[in-house]
Amino acid sequence: MSQILPEKLKKLIQFLSDGQFHSGEELGKNLSITRAAVWKLLQQLSEWDLELEAKTNKGYRLIQNLELLNVAKLDSQLTPANKKLINKLEIFDVLASTNDYLMQVMAKRTEKVQVCLAEKQTAGRGRRGKHWLSPYGRNIYLSIGWRFERDPSQLACLSLAIGVAVINALTQYGIKQHLDLKWPNDIYWQKHKLAGILIEITGETHSHCHLVVGVGLNLNLPHTLAEQINQPWIDIATITQAKPERNKLAGLLLNQLLSTLTLFEQKGFTPFKTQWQQYDCTLGKTVKIIMPTSTIAGIGRGIDEKGCFLLENERGDIQKFSSGEISLRL
Ligand code: ATP
Repeated sequence: MSQILPEKLKKLIQFLSDGQFHSGEELGKNLSITRAAVWKLLQQLSEWDLELEAKTNKGYRLIQNLELLNVAKLDSQLTPANKKLINKLEIFDVLASTNDYLMQVMAKRTEKVQVCLAEKQTAGRGRRGKHWLSPYGRNIYLSIGWRFERDPSQLACLSLAIGVAVINALTQYGIKQHLDLKWPNDIYWQKHKLAGILIEITGETHSHCHLVVGVGLNLNLPHTLAEQINQPWIDIATITQAKPERNKLAGLLLNQLLSTLTLFEQKGFTPFKTQWQQYDCTLGKTVKIIMPTSTIAGIGRGIDEKGCFLLENERGDIQKFSSGEISLRL
């Protein structure tokens, strides 16, 4: 299911990841291949969503310099307790989807915590199979497999707690303003979608289950590709006006997610509720609830103790919604 980048192509990408010009001769020497072979490899970069600039007398460079994922750099952002928790951490060049990979792994394993990231997903997913754009080396696609030692009925509010974890990681990274959460699973910056969460469950019994928590976070999404996205979106590079520190951000995110899962398993949603409410972008706002066969308009009134969305309808009655098949829109 995982695809491996051909070794020479990966080396070429690593070499060009500094965004500087390199001559064909220099590239050939470093990769121990002929200039003709270098040229062939350079032609393949566009298949990996990488744009190349060629200049006479200067050579070649990647238009956007990349920071490829690195276990050691990521690890340096984790607390000792979180480092200890992880049974296995893997970084893939390409996966169909990081969630799919861990869903398969968790179904067979008994380990508590397994983490995976991919440079690219070929079939990244949001809720209900919606496509999640996942070009090579640009964003973060991270999933955590977690053996949850409680009744799966306790998981109703997990996506809300995970939203708080993503906000905390972004705040630690330095983004302190304009972040919002939209029930049940989206992270927004000034009404533009920045990240999404996908939680899936397998191997349920009354006493435990295996969870896979996936987060897709936009760091530097090529505008040409993003034309496919049918709602306002944003990435970290646009917010900060700087080159994203990809490993730092992935490490901070992983650290917050692990701490959140630990606390959630012990105490449920209660420790996260106040913070979630602070970031609820629909509170007191006119919203629409889109269901498979109808749409209801009303005013967002927050969440109840089970994490259900509360809508004040046009008659002034409060209606409750659980996440399943519905979408919430401002
Ligand atoms: P809801 O879950 O409430 O229905 P949603 O429509 O945003 O919200 P999600 O499953 O959360 O659904 O996310 C998938 C959607 O996100 C896609 O349909 C597209 O509009 C958008 N999308 C896809 N890829 C990206 C991306 N890389 N960045 C931001 N948005 C994306």
